Amino acid sequence: EDASGVPLAKGDGPPPKGPSQAPGIRFEKVVKRFGQNVVLRELDFTVAPGERVTLIGPSGSGKTTILRLLMTLEKVDDGVIRVGDEPLSHMDKGGKLVPANEKHLHEMRKKIGMVFQQFNLFPNMNVLRNLTEGPVHVLGLSKDEAAERARKLLDMVGLADKAAAHPTQLSGGQQQRVAIARALAMEPQVLLLDEVTSALDPELVVGVQDLLRDIAKESDLTILCVTHEMGFAKDISDRVLMFDQGQIVEEGPPEQIFGEPSEQRTRDFLQAVL
Ligand code: ADP
Repeated sequence: EDASGVPLAKGDGPPPKGPSQAPGIRFEKVVKRFGQNVVLRELDFTVAPGERVTLIGPSGSGKTTILRLLMTLEKVDDGVIRVGDEPLSHMDKGGKLVPANEKHLHEMRKKIGMVFQQFNLFPNMNVLRNLTEGPVHVLGLSKDEAAERARKLLDMVGLADKAAAHPTQLSGGQQQRVAIARALAMEPQVLLLDEVTSALDPELVVGVQDLLRDIAKESDLTILCVTHEMGFAKDISDRVLMFDQGQIVEEGPPEQIFGEPSEQRTRDFLQAVL
């Protein structure tokens, strides 16, 4: 697109580089309940293509649920989530929620990578297979192509010598590096980070954060991050959304949210975690 939002004609030279290639995320009046518990209340927010947004807020405020909805591990009760322009579900004329068809969801999931708090590596596979399994079975790469990609990524995360190791032979920090490399091996456009350092021993946290900071700096990925590490949030984010009880209390650039928050709930939260 040019500045006026008009799509450029095809054949105008190479595709644009940079953030415009990564899809953004849009939540429109999203409602999510677990039984009587309304976790998200008509939640509206967008993450622009290539933008890095961090969600902060008290435990139980719905942050992880947002990531799980994006991964289609959960379904909305109302409203629409879009990745790029593509909805994950829509309402039919009777107001009934209809999920996008499985083939479409499969295509959507390919655009999104997620790194979890607990690494979630495949325990019965060595490190290399952890990285090649998705590219071979989901993306259709040959084993050789997938292995080449995997080795490059292992090199990037500083674990070139661990390709044959078993996840249980690695430290938590190393396992999390493998999990990050595994997510990137799928060449996603959106990366979701869910408390990726909170299961790590304190001395391993900085290494993983530095790695993610470098990835953020050098890629066009759209990143949506949930963290309790405010220093990391400050470094990695273009924008911070402060959540409480399933709604956005306050949002702004990290300097503003951490430096001069305007809402009392934000101040209370920051005082408790910093
Ligand atoms: P956060 O990530 O901000 O700590 P969560 O999104 O994990 O918050 O949880 C928000 C609320 O949803 C909590 O009250 C939690 O108990 C509830 N919840 C999350 N997942 C489930 C589930 N699978 N079943 C029932 N309740 C859930």
